[in-house]
Amino acid sequence: NERHISTPTRTKELLKKYNFSFKKSLGQNFLIDTNILRNIIHHAGVTEDVGAIEIGPGMGALTEQLAIAANKVLAFEIDQRLLPILEDTLSPYDNVKVVNEDILKADVEQELQQYFGDQKVKIVANLPYYITTPILMNLLTRNLPISSITVMIQKEVADRMAASPNTKSYGSLSLAVQYYTEAAVVMTVPKTAFMPQPNVDSAVLHLAVRSEPPVHVEDEKFFFDLIQASFGQRRKTLRNNLNRHFSSRFSKDELEEIMNEAEIDGTRRGESLSMEEFAALANTFTAKG
Ligand code: SAM
Repeated sequence: NERHISTPTRTKELLKKYNFSFKKSLGQNFLIDTNILRNIIHHAGVTEDVGAIEIGPGMGALTEQLAIAANKVLAFEIDQRLLPILEDTLSPYDNVKVVNEDILKADVEQELQQYFGDQKVKIVANLPYYITTPILMNLLTRNLPISSITVMIQKEVADRMAASPNTKSYGSLSLAVQYYTEAAVVMTVPKTAFMPQPNVDSAVLHLAVRSEPPVHVEDEKFFFDLIQASFGQRRKTLRNNLNRHFSSRFSKDELEEIMNEAEIDGTRRGESLSMEEFAALANTFTAKG
């Protein structure tokens, strides 16, 4: 449809009508390609029985497509200047609620419960790139009743989040994200799909939220601390990184014993360890106190 918000013509019209200037500091790169928006929604699995949460509706390009495809939409937008624009652009839809709040500060759980009740909910967004990781880790660790998160983010970050062991992109972020979700990069998106065009490449990441973690971990905080330590200096061996990080708590001999018991070779590098191996190692540490 020619009148959809997500066309270059309509976007330019709106910018002019409201004398809107993009704020780089808020990661404002609006989508101007309706096909890409529909594709995102398709990958997200949004259908008429699904509730959708959007972070950063901007002028409503994705919000509109969600309003059409989903049962209802709850959108969090930090920039007050966008509220009158959204009121205008989304006026044809009666199944959208816009909340003027910072997603990192909003009581998402409460808003979600109030708006969706017990309905199945998915998060779909073209995220502000400057806070992608804080937003995603914040949503994941809050244990919200959501089944998936499908987001446009910087391609490099998407690759890290979905990476497997023994690849350049694999690191503590991959493990943190994959502890909570099954992660996959489902599309790459050209810069020309945005106004203004971002400086970095973009991709759509799909995260299917797990009902429980893929490994059993005795002490989650320690598990993630161990992972951080293991990637401390990427080119050093696991033994080296662990010795450096745990020197005040464990002797070299104790560390050797722990690695032996967990059946992890200390000459390996952190990037070769699977989530299962990190869990085994962490649990052996925990057992030794
Ligand atoms: N969804 C629109 C689109 O695709 O055209 C806009 C996406 S733009 C990449 C990111 C949006 O997130 C902007 O509208 C920006 O104002 C908003 N935003 C930035 N930081 C935010 C935060 N902390 N909480 C909520 N929204 C935020």
